[in-house]
Amino acid sequence: MGKEYFYMNELNRAEAKARILKEVEEKLHRSFGITFDDATPMQLYKAVALTVRDEVMERWTHGREERAEQKLKRLYYLSVEFLPGKMLVNHLLNLVEFDLYQEALSEVGVNLMELEAEEPEPGLGNGGLGRLASCFMESLATLQLPAMGCSIRYEYGLFRQQIVDGQQVEAPDNWLEDGFIWEVPDYDDEMEIHFGGHIIEDWSEGYLKVRHEDYNTVLALPYDVPVSGYDSDIALSMRLWSARSPRRINMEQFSRGDYIKASEEKELAEAISKVLYPDDNHLEGKELRLKQHYFFTSATIQYAVKDFKRRFPELPITRLADKIAIHINDTHPALAILELMRVLLDQEGLPWETAIAVCSKVFAYTNHTIMNEALETWSEDLFKVLLPRLYSIVQAINQDFCESLWKHYPGQFDRIAKMAIVSYGQIHMANLAVAMSHAVNGVSKLHTRILKQDLFADFYRIYPGRFHAITNGISYRRWSLKANPGLAHLITEAIGPGWLRDAAELEKLRPMAEDGAFLEKAAAIKKENKVRLAHYVEKTQGIVLNPDSIYDVQAKRLHEYKRQLLNALHILYLYQQIKANPEADFTPRTFLFAAKAAPGYYRAKLIISFICQVAELVHNDPDVKGRLKVVFLPNYNVSLAEVLIPAAEVSEQISTAGKEASGTSNMKFMLNGAITLGTLDGANVEMLDAVGEENIIIFGMTPEEVQQAYRFNSYRQGELYEENLALRRVLDMMVDGSLTPANPHRFSELYQALLFSDNGGMADPYFVLKDFDAYAAAQKKVEALYGRPKVWQKKSVLNIAASGVFSSDKTIREYNRKVWHLSPVESEE
Ligand SMILES: *Cc1c(COP(=O)(O)O)cnc(C)c1O
Repeated sequence: MGKEYFYMNELNRAEAKARILKEVEEKLHRSFGITFDDATPMQLYKAVALTVRDEVMERWTHGREERAEQKLKRLYYLSVEFLPGKMLVNHLLNLVEFDLYQEALSEVGVNLMELEAEEPEPGLGNGGLGRLASCFMESLATLQLPAMGCSIRYEYGLFRQQIVDGQQVEAPDNWLEDGFIWEVPDYDDEMEIHFGGHIIEDWSEGYLKVRHEDYNTVLALPYDVPVSGYDSDIALSMRLWSARSPRRINMEQFSRGDYIKASEEKELAEAISKVLYPDDNHLEGKELRLKQHYFFTSATIQYAVKDFKRRFPELPITRLADKIAIHINDTHPALAILELMRVLLDQEGLPWETAIAVCSKVFAYTNHTIMNEALETWSEDLFKVLLPRLYSIVQAINQDFCESLWKHYPGQFDRIAKMAIVSYGQIHMANLAVAMSHAVNGVSKLHTRILKQDLFADFYRIYPGRFHAITNGISYRRWSLKANPGLAHLITEAIGPGWLRDAAELEKLRPMAEDGAFLEKAAAIKKENKVRLAHYVEKTQGIVLNPDSIYDVQAKRLHEYKRQLLNALHILYLYQQIKANPEADFTPRTFLFAAKAAPGYYRAKLIISFICQVAELVHNDPDVKGRLKVVFLPNYNVSLAEVLIPAAEVSEQISTAGKEASGTSNMKFMLNGAITLGTLDGANVEMLDAVGEENIIIFGMTPEEVQQAYRFNSYRQGELYEENLALRRVLDMMVDGSLTPANPHRFSELYQALLFSDNGGMADPYFVLKDFDAYAAAQKKVEALYGRPKVWQKKSVLNIAASGVFSSDKTIREYNRKVWHLSPVESEE
């Protein structure tokens, strides 16, 4: 602690600024042979980033040395996705040197925020899952807990989304094209990964020895990206494995004249880390994806064991769990369990029972979804061919496990088949993860309850102590200090800087909700953020927004369960009200959407088109007189979120109750003073508890009502259409040519899906029609409340004050207390 105090001295400050400029200038000289005046923005960015990197590296080295010195246990956090966002400004804020750099650079006419535009954003994740992993890394670094985040260095991140003629078009994201300053390859830790081939079992020495032969080798080269923590002495690594073909073998083939085959193998090997699968909450059992999962989990396990042996030569491998914890973020990395079994059995020679015992002490698992299409299974046939040794291990685990289940559920074949790891030709990764982990957790209280009562009910009965509810959180400093500096400064002015270390101190803002001057300042900052967003929208979309209208934002992946369609249908309903009575008073409203759809998710893409057509309709109708604006902002990512969320006044969190495991954007909006308009789903339920029912607008079916409607097949969509005139009028607009006169059938697929069941599937399975009235009534409340600005502002401040419970620091402390048991790197004082 204490950098800010150190720099309070003006002399120190001037010296520090001069030193920064000198460093940057030297980097320009050495890297580009150029001076300040001649440098391009990209060269300037790189020179500044390299200067900052030196400082981060000091903490990196320090963390590594202290971890070794203090012989600390380390966490490996495995996630097939990370979504870190841009890094330059975030590092500077964490180093508590942002102001210093900004002032220094402004002396030579450089704007730090603009410089960051040159940095590529690593799109190594789809949405919430990856973003959570990055928030966790940052909190681990802040709390000085030894950890490494492990994933894949996708050469192409999540596609860039363009909207062309109102439709999503995907373009590749070649984020490494101009180099990525923050990554450092570590050639010493390159690992060999083996695919295919066959195994030979040898009992000749009285115990089973397994050899794996005729496999294909792919090399995994790690690139480490430092993760800094707020005012922390250490930096952690996000280790991204990159696939390479083993050159030596290629060269032999080349010399044999077999170069076509050699180059094909190279292509195939390198395809593994080529591209991120663009599906969120959905899984397709593709071979390449299974290869990706094995590739990064095998590399990580081999490295973790190697590191354990290097650091703790005095400890037997059976003590592994004393020194490492492995957390798997959803089931994608669950192959790590089988891979550790392989290493313990085949390389370390442990007996079966001992290996099982070590493994179950090492692993913990977080479930992220209960939706069927997202539950990961692999066909035995594919698995057997690609990973023959892991296949024999998973069969043996399954056999043991089913035998143990027989004791708990004698004769209950159906129940055991449901819990089995291998059944009906499929390998069930969630069952593997639960069976082999010492801790399983859900990401909100509601989600954990559903896991216990529903998805994992049979497991819960046997292992009740294994289940935990640890609610997700956010890296709240990025979403305030970086995204909303105006608000962050106002908060510090009001309650001091302690909230930046301890989010619970945000509670101290509560009395400010009664302070008229404070409310006015907070409102002025919101207005500035709305204007900033309006500039962005005008520049990028050519649409002029009214900063005095209500900014209502729904930004998240496009998914039917998230119900962007409900929001869009309500906009049509408002439009009809204007049309029915153009001269009546109407509170001006701006509806902003941002969402990528998986490229193969046809209906999601159609919903994007639908939103774009609704926008066209309202913008082109002179009766609307600009009172209604609808904007679809393309290419939602962390940087866009940082502009969008601080400007939001209404946060749309309207998923079908029971479907959104937690949500994290709901927390970001709350921290930025938006009022949540939400269902009783995921962490919304806990937001309600934290802020009180007068400060949040909750509507719609409860999770229990949703469950009942599924169970008793009691949902009568057709009756709603018959009986609800307003709803019928809106639905009819989907197919009567109002939106696309040239092609009135454009959206009939969406219309049909709401009203008619199709091959046995239920119509409107996400209850858009059922919740329509409740949603419209809730939006009426929004409007009424907005008409009383003081009341609105007060509620907004109370939301900020209550948002501290959603700090990922708190989440990480809880994981550590209940699951990982890591000790922090002690700072020397
Ligand atoms: C926070 C975040 C998400 C998650 O949003 P949800 O509304 O919780 O699904 C997705 N994408 C980005 C870029 C984010 O920052």
